[in-house]
Order: sequence, then structure tokens, then C-alpha cells
Amino acid sequence: MPLFCDVALAVPLDMAFTYAVPPEMEPLIGARVLVPFRQHRMSGIVVDLHDRVPQGKTKDVKIKRIIEVLDASPVLDDHLLKLGRWIANYYLAPVGEVFRTMLPLSAEFKRAISYRITDQGHMALHLAGMSGSSVRSKRTPEQQLAEFRVLDYLAERDEALEPGLRGATRVPRSVLDGMVRKKWIAREDVSAARDAARIVKVAILLDATAAKKLNENQRTLVETLAASGGRLPVETLRGLDVPRTTLGTLVRRGLIELTDEPLEFTASKLKPRRSPFEFEFSKPQKEAISKIGAAVAARKFGGLLLHGVTGSGKTAVYLACMRDVLEQGRSAILLVPEIGLTPAVAADLYQVFGDEVAILHSGLSNAERAEQWHRIRRGEARVVAGTRSAVFAPVSDLALIIVDEEQDSSYKQEETPRYHARDVAVMRAKMTGAVVVLGSATPSLESYYNAKKNKYALVELPDRVEKRPLPEVEIVDMRQEFQETGQEQVISRKLAEEIRERLEKKEQVMLLLNRRGYSPVVLCRACGKTLQCPNCAVSMTHHKREHKMECHYCGHIARIPEKCAHCGSEYVYFVGTGSEKLEELLHSMFPQARIGRLDRDTVRGREDFEHALNALNEGALDMLVGTQMIAKGHDIHGVTLVGVIGADMALGLPDFRAAERTFQLLTQVAGRAGRGQSPGKVILQTYFQDHYAVQFAARHDFTGFYEKELQFRAWMHYPPYGAIANVLIRSEKLDEALTWSGELGRWFEKTRHEGIRVLGPAAAPITRLKRDYRYHFILKSPSREKMNALLRAMLAETAARKIPRTQVIVDVDPVWLM
Ligand SMILES: [Zn+2]
Ligand SMILES: [Zn+2]
Repeated sequence: MPLFCDVALAVPLDMAFTYAVPPEMEPLIGARVLVPFRQHRMSGIVVDLHDRVPQGKTKDVKIKRIIEVLDASPVLDDHLLKLGRWIANYYLAPVGEVFRTMLPLSAEFKRAISYRITDQGHMALHLAGMSGSSVRSKRTPEQQLAEFRVLDYLAERDEALEPGLRGATRVPRSVLDGMVRKKWIAREDVSAARDAARIVKVAILLDATAAKKLNENQRTLVETLAASGGRLPVETLRGLDVPRTTLGTLVRRGLIELTDEPLEFTASKLKPRRSPFEFEFSKPQKEAISKIGAAVAARKFGGLLLHGVTGSGKTAVYLACMRDVLEQGRSAILLVPEIGLTPAVAADLYQVFGDEVAILHSGLSNAERAEQWHRIRRGEARVVAGTRSAVFAPVSDLALIIVDEEQDSSYKQEETPRYHARDVAVMRAKMTGAVVVLGSATPSLESYYNAKKNKYALVELPDRVEKRPLPEVEIVDMRQEFQETGQEQVISRKLAEEIRERLEKKEQVMLLLNRRGYSPVVLCRACGKTLQCPNCAVSMTHHKREHKMECHYCGHIARIPEKCAHCGSEYVYFVGTGSEKLEELLHSMFPQARIGRLDRDTVRGREDFEHALNALNEGALDMLVGTQMIAKGHDIHGVTLVGVIGADMALGLPDFRAAERTFQLLTQVAGRAGRGQSPGKVILQTYFQDHYAVQFAARHDFTGFYEKELQFRAWMHYPPYGAIANVLIRSEKLDEALTWSGELGRWFEKTRHEGIRVLGPAAAPITRLKRDYRYHFILKSPSREKMNALLRAMLAETAARKIPRTQVIVDVDPVWLM
């Protein structure tokens, strides 16, 4: 056996670590081992076995030894190891963190340590919040601040796992140890208990009539419960800005009862539709299936872009191709943006593949995820469907990977490793000689460009199934509406009239407003200031039903202000309209109509979502209001009118993908109309009526939009014309963020880097987020190799300057520049 093994650990360091192999152990490349690392034991992946004595060590210096070999056979085969290395290299991510992302097995061996705040801790937090409490203390101010951050974090939740707690507070373990000794916080090993239990605590309202005798906090809780039908998870109530003791008081007084309920993720309750294969395939569908089948039969890499208009039956094509692959005894992976939001797809998959499909969705616990992973690896499930990380499913003899809605930004992971699942899918197919199919009604600029350059074969589904027409789109200019009616309108006269017409004909309506909550801005008329989140440089949103203000970026919750926080004036106004307010407005305009709402506030689980869709399907609703959730591939046949209230807000954002994203959203939502027997219509209200994204979407003109947008990208050297990267420098301390970004700015200036443009440092569009001040650089280059070389050199420079790796975020091929 070799003397040493190199192990990739999930730590933010771009290297593997060498350990000695004890004679009795036989680690394998691609298998997991348990090793000592600093004060911890960690599991990592063996990446090399060798007899080279590590640099700077002699045989006399003791090299740490492996503690335990965890797997008798590799968990990552050669292909997946190679894919992981490619990701680490391409996205400049530590390879150990990449492997951790690829393996959903954390539940198997990781010890989960959780922390809770104690009563003493609450007291300490209370005292720290009062002025003049800086009594004699042996602790340094930094230490006190660190402790305060921990208490503050824990006070807001029932418990927190160690990685989350330390990630959020950036506090060393030693500080936590000290706090445990002082009994401010309690530590608990919850490894095994956690996943088995999966219990939620639910508060049930027993008596709402006593509300008058309650104080303000108590009333808030009771009213919130009453407004939510009398029961809510305790976790949700904790989100309200009332002391934790209030709930306890109400329980003692017998007004509220607490119970434990199992958290269940049941199989889809969506009513089965007709079988996906009951209808006759159209000619273009048949052609698409045979083209994909031929590519699979060739047993070498092939890429296809399936561009099909909304309602053209792409899903049926996917299912047919996957079924063929399965019949040949090979494997297929289907990636979808968010399977919880497309229950119909899950229902179809079960119907066609039964037990042979493994569905990986966000509702699975870690243990369930690990179980699915083993099923796939044993070959029991050879068809895998899931979100982003399903691209790493350990199937053997992979024949086909399909990426549905390939333009969707949820394929990009917004934490390390910042990979894009579509691009990883293409690379995996290349490495294993499989076929990749990218499907979309609105392909990304990059993919369509690649198809035009013949890197992918282009397959088109130009018509809707059964030759149903695409909906007619009418644009309503909201500036003109304002001039003619003399006031700001949410629903134009035209849209109101169309809605009324549909309601009379017993047809259904969908309305998109891509902004949740009641009012997005609270403005003081006296001093002009708005209510900002204390952690982020963004406005807080008013949520009326839940009696709270919420930051949509960090989740911070605050009371509804009665006065301005800046000047004390009572003239505070709630400005603007979110989906909650829109629903209220529609109720007053159309009192007879049955209206449902779909957004992250009304949808707490998949069941709520399916419930609303079923209601619409069965005709129990006349109207459905919602955020972009309603735009995703739902197939509701009764909807004949789609109204777009506000979907073009993004056009005002400083992001080069704003036009593309708006075009895609408008096309998607328009595609919900007229999928049944009656033709559909779309009313598109906009303040940007001359913008080409709006104009082309209204004409269903994908190629027109694509050509125009491509010109802009070429002028600005944005993708697909060259690569870009976003480098973000962040710190809770403004001066640190400024110093670091200044130092790196000077370093970039000094370094010769031909063929790469470096823009910045500049304040990021959201200058402060989750307590961090943020500065960024944007790198653009026609040569990805050169750009990555410069980024690598920059990371070496930040390490030399002792700038923590976690505070420098490198995002290659970013989808957001915010
Ligand atoms: Zn004010
Ligand atoms: Zn915030």
C-alpha cells in the first residue's frame, strides 16, 4: 500500500492535504476517509495515493494519519472526479468544496452540533443592548462584539447548527466554548435525532375572542394566527417581531396550544392528467424525438438545442426520449429549475417510469437525499429527475442529459462552488460521450448563439400542439394611462374591461405582478427617507396580513412603523403595490370573483402550490394572482386572459441580462394563455413600451429579440462575446471592504494583463447586503484561459495579503451582477 494519500477537504483552501496511510488501511481514490484537521475530524475524498514525502517534511516529522476509511469502494468514479476537478478549475472553487456539493451524503457521518440561547443568554443580550453596561470586563471589545453577534443570531431562532451559526457570525469555536461555559448558550449533538424526527411544532389558536384583553404583542400573535386559519408553525411566529416569552404566556393562559406534527413530503397530490402519450405526436415532435434518438445511438457526445414555443409539447418529447434510453438499459438525467413548482412534471414522470425514476427535490431531508443517491448508484433508478445538483447523480452508462428551461437562473448556484448546472451538464456529457439536450421556449443568448455557430444542433418546435394559436398580445402604455386618468393606476381600464368580459364568460384569468408583499416602500413625507433594512441597503416591504415589515434580501423582520425612524414624523406612507395588495384591489373591483394568490407568502410547501393549481384546473377559481411562480410551465386549459401588471421593473436595473430576463419572463407568462380550446389574449401593461424586449415579446419574435440583443452584447463585450467574471469584496467593516478593494485595484493596475478589461473597484449595485459592505470588479475577456489565469493570480495575491478567502467571491459566468 502507498505510504501517503492526498485528501480533498471541504475547506476554503485551494489544495489537497497529505496524510499518512496506516499499514492496516486501504483507502481508494474517490472514496471517503476520516482525517484530523486542525481541532476537528473531517471527512474528505481521496484524490491521490503515492510515496512522495510531503514538501518541507522529512520522514522524522510525524505526518498526521488517516483515522478511518469510510468507503470500501469509491463514491466518486473517475468521470465524476474528473468533472469535479474541471469545476474547481473553471469556477476557481476549492476542489474539496466541489466534491462536497457533488455528494449528498453529509447525513451519513457528519456530527451535527446545534446551539440554543439560554435564559442567561437572553439576559446578557438584554444588558448588552442597554447603554452604560460596559462594566469592568476582562473581555476585549472584539470578544464582546463576537459574543453579541452569536446571542443576537440565536435569539432569532429556536436552534442553529454550528456551520450556519459560525458562517453567519464568523466567530471562532473558542468563543462558542467560552459562551457554553458561561451557560449563555447550550450545545447539543443532534446528529441522529435530527433527520429521523422531522417534526414541526405547530401553534393552534383555541380562543380568538379574548383579543381585547391582550397587550400589543399578544394581540399580534393572536391576530396573525387568526388570519392564517388558526394554525401556523411556531417557526413562522418566531419571525414576528415579538418577544419569545409572549407565546409561552398565551399557552399558559389557554389561548394557544402547541403540538408536534410530522413534517411530511407526500407524493404529488396533483390530479393525474391524461397520459402524456395519449395524444398523437405532431410531425415536429416526431422529428425531434428521432433526431435525439439518433444522437444517443451514435454513442458519442452530441449537443442539441430544442427550441419550442410555449405549449409545443417539449415535456412529451423529453419523456419519450428518456423512455427509449431506459428501454436500451441505459440511463438518463432530466434537470428542471424547481420541481416543487412543476408538480405536473413529477406526476408525469411517476406515471411513465414508476419506481425506476428517482426524483431529487428540495423537500427531501439529508437522509432521504442520501438514500436516493444510493438507490441511483445501485442502478435501481436509472432515470433521475431533479434540480441543479441532480447533474451529479451517480448513474452508470449515462446516455442522455436533458436541461429543461435551460435559460433559468436557478441553475446557477449562488454559493461556492458557483457552478452553472447547464454548463456542467454539457461538460459531463462531453466527458462521458453522452448526449445533452437543452430545451426552452426562450433559450439563453449563449445557447442560441452556440446553436447558430453549429456547436449544437438546433431542433425547432415552431407550433403549439394541435395547431393552437399563440395568444394575441396587446400593450398598454401606463404613462399614457396616467395622463388620461390623472392618477397612477395599478390596473388599466383596458385590462379591467377584459377581466370583466372573461368573468362573464366564465373563463379564467392569470395576473402577474413580480413583487410580493403589500407595499414595497415606506416613505416619510416629512423628510423623504424610506425605511431601510438595518442589514442591507434596500427598502423593507410591508406585509399587511402578517403585520410586519420584511427585508426580501436577508429576511430581517421589523414592526410596522407608526412614525418615521429618522425624524419622528407621523406622516409615513406606504407606497407601491405588491401581489398582496393587488389581490385586495381585485377583490374590491370584482367582488363576485373567486381569487387565489401564488407567491412565496401564500405557498409554504408544495401542497399549497398544488392546491391552488388544482383549484384553477377544476374551475374553483376565476382568477389567479402571483409572482413569476405562476409563469413556470403550468398547463391550465381554462385560462384565456393573462394580464401582466408589472414585469418590466427589471429593465431599470444595472444588469446586462435585464433585457433578456424580461423578454423571457414576458414570453413565459404570455405562454400560459390559450392552452385549451379557446384562444388566449395577453394584456401587457408597461412603462417601457418602446423597449425592444417588450416589443419583441409582444410579437412572439424570438429571433428578432435575439439579433438585437446580440448587437448590444457585441458592442459591450458581454457574453456570448467573451467571458466575464465578477469579483466581490465584502466585509462587515466598511474600512476593510474599502482597503481590500483598493489594494486589489492597485494590484490589477500594476499587473500586466493583455486582452482583459478590469472595471472597478466600484460599489456593488446593492452596496450593503446581510451586514456586509460590498465592492466589486468586473473582468471581461475574449480569452477565458487568460481571465482565469489572472483570477488565480489575484487569489494568490489576496492570500499573500491575508485577505480571508471567504471575503473575496469570484463568480465566473455570473448570472447576476447585483
Ligand atoms: Zn422622516
Ligand atoms: Zn436585509
